Amino acid sequence: MQTATKFTRLMVVLMVGLCLILANGILTPADAAPKYRWKLAQTWGTGFPIFGDAVIKMAEMVKVMSNGEMEIRIDSSNKHKAAFGILDMVKAGQYEMGHSASYYWKGKDVNTMFFTTMPFGMIAPEQYAWFYYGGGMELMKKIYDKQGVYAFPGGNTSNQMGGWFRKEINTLNDFKGLKMRIPGFAGEVLSKLGVVVTNIAPGELYTALDRGTIDALEWVGPSLDLNMGFQKIAPYYYTGWHEPATELQFMVNQKKFDALPAHLQEILSTAMKFAAYDMYARSYHESAINWASIEKEYPNVKIRTFSPEIISAMKKANDQLLADTAAKDATFKEILDSQKAYMKKVRKWTEISDYAYLKDNL
Ligand code: CA
Repeated sequence: MQTATKFTRLMVVLMVGLCLILANGILTPADAAPKYRWKLAQTWGTGFPIFGDAVIKMAEMVKVMSNGEMEIRIDSSNKHKAAFGILDMVKAGQYEMGHSASYYWKGKDVNTMFFTTMPFGMIAPEQYAWFYYGGGMELMKKIYDKQGVYAFPGGNTSNQMGGWFRKEINTLNDFKGLKMRIPGFAGEVLSKLGVVVTNIAPGELYTALDRGTIDALEWVGPSLDLNMGFQKIAPYYYTGWHEPATELQFMVNQKKFDALPAHLQEILSTAMKFAAYDMYARSYHESAINWASIEKEYPNVKIRTFSPEIISAMKKANDQLLADTAAKDATFKEILDSQKAYMKKVRKWTEISDYAYLKDNL
């Protein structure tokens, strides 16, 4: 009898203890196996700073906000070996999600590049306003519906630098035969001005510049350029014109997203949006910190801006290329017109707000 009483007492103590643990949230349903285990493929390698960190942040938020109901595993390019195959893998459902840059798919559909950035286009606050309130999301959906994929803004680098040059570019003549790594629509613009344009994988950029395979390159800005070491080889660092608001991209397979319960759709959407904004703030911060380091540790680095003559020729080539493509593709024209009209409107506000403030307070 006594043993049975002791056992009952022990059980009561254990039950009370378990209740206390549950009440304190030490053992919550989060410890149960997730109902939704997703995989995300990213263009970036393992440990890639800022871009990769935005993806980690998004996945962590989803896990915590869903109380462990949903988990997203991240596969880097080292694992899936298809840095530029993300859209295909998400479309096929091989991965539920992806993280990349929309303009990497311009060979598949030229209209995807509008959702990253355009030469002489909007700056980041203007572009976010266009995405969320100026019809951008609807146009992006129209393009990505063809792929069975939902696309979302995935983090902004802010205004990118025009690149690292071994020699100063003073006249348009200096562009003739210059070998430069520059992707996207900007590459086509410079190609029209006589530059020999190439695209080289990030991991090979330093060697290509060091060995003279290329004379110049653009990558991002101080946030990511400092660690690449370009400042040791090419001292002329030009200000940007070609990627004023580079937005990365989250992609989600439409069937998989539609099959999620409403609360998880909302959690995932919120986490992606937060991670994107957060990457913009982080990029701005890292650029400021890293530029201060470059200025201090590499006094030979000189900031340059392309001359008005060069900028004017770039604009002319850009306008011509846009007009040629718009004449052949009605959807291209629709998105171009939307961005142009929105920029005209929003730039007036930028002019009397941030621009007016900065020009008198630098
Ligand atoms: Ca770039």
